[in-house]
Amino acid sequence: MSSNGCKGIWVFAEQRGGELHGVSLELLGKANELAQGIGCAVTAVLLGHNITSHAKTLVNHGADIVLVADDPLLKHYRVLPYSYVIEYLIKEYQPEVLLMGATAMGVELAPRVAAKLKTGLSAHCIDLKLDREGKLLQVVPGWEGGVIATIACPAHRPQMATVMPGIMRALSPTEKTGQIIEVKVSLTDKNLGPEVLEVKTEKPAGRPLEQAEIVVAGGWGVGNEEGWKTIEQLADVLGGSVGATRPAVDEGWVEEGQMIGQSGKTVRPTLYIAVGISGVMHHVVGMDQSKEIISINTDANADIFEVSDVIVVEDFKKVVPKLIKEIEARQKVCK
Ligand SMILES: Cc1cc2nc3c(=O)[nH]c(=O)nc-3n(C[C@H](O)[C@H](O)[C@H](O)COP(=O)(O)OP(=O)(O)OC[C@H]3O[C@@H](n4cnc5c(N)ncnc54)[C@H](O)[C@@H]3O)c2cc1C
Repeated sequence: MSSNGCKGIWVFAEQRGGELHGVSLELLGKANELAQGIGCAVTAVLLGHNITSHAKTLVNHGADIVLVADDPLLKHYRVLPYSYVIEYLIKEYQPEVLLMGATAMGVELAPRVAAKLKTGLSAHCIDLKLDREGKLLQVVPGWEGGVIATIACPAHRPQMATVMPGIMRALSPTEKTGQIIEVKVSLTDKNLGPEVLEVKTEKPAGRPLEQAEIVVAGGWGVGNEEGWKTIEQLADVLGGSVGATRPAVDEGWVEEGQMIGQSGKTVRPTLYIAVGISGVMHHVVGMDQSKEIISINTDANADIFEVSDVIVVEDFKKVVPKLIKEIEARQKVCK
């Protein structure tokens, strides 16, 4: 394939510490679906050092072409050199679309690249479509989640969007072949910014929220720290993880890393128990793919009930302690 084969849909293949982020494969899955509609190639853009082995994984998951910039100066992620290289590649190959994960790296990198190229960017998209003219329709919850907005960028290229991990589906790997193009970029001190002296990685305690089979999530309706202890107790007796809405995080009842939704994590557990959560779209997009959803809310008209399998219209203070006692009693019988 010639270099202008790279004009189609691009996915930024995020890797950190030499490990490919799952969102890169998820975005390749979506990019393939989009590319089929207009018959263009899917290109993955991989930056780092000693990372070329990932190119095969990217091809196996749907990339037709992988552009690899392998350079010791790209070993550790830094926004200045990474955005410089991406800008350079985009100017060189002129892709129509660039997709990135809405990860800590993506949310820093994407706006910088978009600003450098004077193009638009839709952050935290929950769906992406292409119209017949190849315009990327970027679906984003807006106005407190009350409406779903579809955004297009008709006049500038590339059309850029970020998507949270867990929203799109990766393709099952195949043995398909693709083209791997090594690109040489000349980085100077001007493009490098701060030097990385050391990288310390913290291992998260317990099972990551995204992998939990049971999630007990609390919202603003939990009311205070005392109420929050009940949420933690319920998660504990069920052997599940604790999730939260934005207000619960803002109150300091729980760490930011436990937030579920558009700007938090996406979960798909077997059982999701929503306590004191109204069901604003910003939260729902992160949990509505859960297998079984039980919601407890005092408001019979709460939006969360629309995505729930079991609804309990009641004060959680009356329900949750009873539930904990009941589960503990049954667990004793089973022992
Ligand atoms: C750009 C943007 C991104 C956002 N991203 C996220 C995100 O990723 N995740 C997220 O969660 N939010 C996000 N938000 C915030 C979001 O819009 C909502 O404000 C938030 O999800 C509401 O949280 P809540 O349901 O806990 O609170 P509320 O909407 O205040 O709902 C509280 C609920 O508790 C019920 N309740 C009250 N007392 C009790 C009781 N005793 N027992 C049982 N039920 C009770 C009430 O009836 C109500 O339904 C975002 C907002 C914006 C603008």
